[in-house]
Amino acid sequence: MENRSQLDERIALIERNLLEMIEMVADRIAQVTTAMLEGDVALADQLVAGDDEIDLLSTQVEEGCVDTLVREQPVATDLRFIVGTLHANSDVERSGDLLANIAKAVGRLQGAHPDDQVRDLVVRMSAQAAELFRRAGHAFRTRDAELAESIDELDDLLDDLHYRYIQHVIQDARRGELDPQQALQLALVGRFYERIGDHAENIGERVRYIVDGWSPEAQAAERAKARLEGLDEASVSRGLAVIDAIAEERRIDAIRRDFVANVSHELKTPVGAMSLLADTIATEPDAADRARLGEMLIQEARRVEDIIDDLLELTRLEETEPERALVAVDDIVNRSIEKVNVFATTQRVELAAVGVPSGLTVTGDRRALVRALANLIDNAVRYSDPDSQVTVIVEDLSGSVALSVRDEGVGIPRTELERVFERFYRVDRARSRETGGTGLGLAIVRHVAGNHGGRVAVESKPGDGSTFTMTIPTAEDAPA
Ligand code: ADP
Repeated sequence: MENRSQLDERIALIERNLLEMIEMVADRIAQVTTAMLEGDVALADQLVAGDDEIDLLSTQVEEGCVDTLVREQPVATDLRFIVGTLHANSDVERSGDLLANIAKAVGRLQGAHPDDQVRDLVVRMSAQAAELFRRAGHAFRTRDAELAESIDELDDLLDDLHYRYIQHVIQDARRGELDPQQALQLALVGRFYERIGDHAENIGERVRYIVDGWSPEAQAAERAKARLEGLDEASVSRGLAVIDAIAEERRIDAIRRDFVANVSHELKTPVGAMSLLADTIATEPDAADRARLGEMLIQEARRVEDIIDDLLELTRLEETEPERALVAVDDIVNRSIEKVNVFATTQRVELAAVGVPSGLTVTGDRRALVRALANLIDNAVRYSDPDSQVTVIVEDLSGSVALSVRDEGVGIPRTELERVFERFYRVDRARSRETGGTGLGLAIVRHVAGNHGGRVAVESKPGDGSTFTMTIPTAEDAPA
């Protein structure tokens, strides 16, 4: 009996701390939004510093859970409470980090004047995210699985707001009302709200797990297993495909989560270099040295510009339906080569096209297709040595067209072949940086190919060179 009441006490304490954190996050969502919309840097700084409070509580919850696990060795419901709480705790903590990120964006958004619709959507996203958190806290307190489930639906509304928000930010950027840097910051801020919503949804799932052992992973596995049982061979392989799809979904989710972290990381280096260079220039007495440093500063600024440009392109590809015009393949090839010609000449790489004119047409977005093929040619030149050759090959596969770019460059190890299409993945970081790569080129190519009902593949041998092939259905066969 003594033990039971001790366990109850521990659990009550853990729960109090967790609920306090949830409430803190809900309150902060409104505060950080005010700081952002009013450009209140002092308030933002205060909120960033306040993140420590959340971290501290989170550590207490975690320690409480671990301690209880070790000392009390609880079973059944109590064990589920602890496991669920540990997960919920990390969701709350990560939401705190996201809020700190929004607060940090306040300084960078100085001077940006988002239009009324963007501001209005920010307010609505923030209210929605706060409501989700309050609901998660309430569901936790009352162990109300149904209330927890209702968070999923509400989160869909937040996703919808976020979608419209991104559209507006992109429109403003296109109209020149926001510069790309600010547009990117705003896009990230929107994404942070959306992720806070995801965390609230997760907390809801933890409540459902605590109450009745419900877990999405277990359910998915159950569903997959049920589909496999008593089926013939063909159906079994279909079932395995279902499991693969679930695994793939998880993988994509993980990539999405890493993305924001990667973006910040990628921008940090050139921006840090820029501020260092600017400082040095300010105090450098020698004019020739100043000019040299100035040139370096411009280089770094270009890097930032390229990364943002590619990021906006990726967002555009993700968020908007591709145009569906008739485009001549020869036109795509010629324009892409034109775009890379100067770079190839400076690298002393010879560019040639084979199989053009082909007379083929595809249905889609000319600009995007040109950009994709140009990215492949650009890479081929970038990863080749001087005095080598890059060849663009057009092949009619009746029903589709294969656009290949072959080089005699450094090649790619077999183990890395799949990964080069991931965002910011680079085989050789130093070389990519040196030559001005953003790490996003192939991600864009894969997106464009996918948007057009096609795909991209690569064959390569280190030392011998690589061939990237983009296959796109031709006009008659493209899905309407
Ligand atoms: P980056 O801007 O770094 O070139 P990409 O997404 O275009 O980014 O390519 C990702 C990585 O794939 C590159 O960093 C490079 O390591 C590798 N890669 C791409 N194209 C080639 C190629 N033609 N030859 C060798 N390696 C390549």
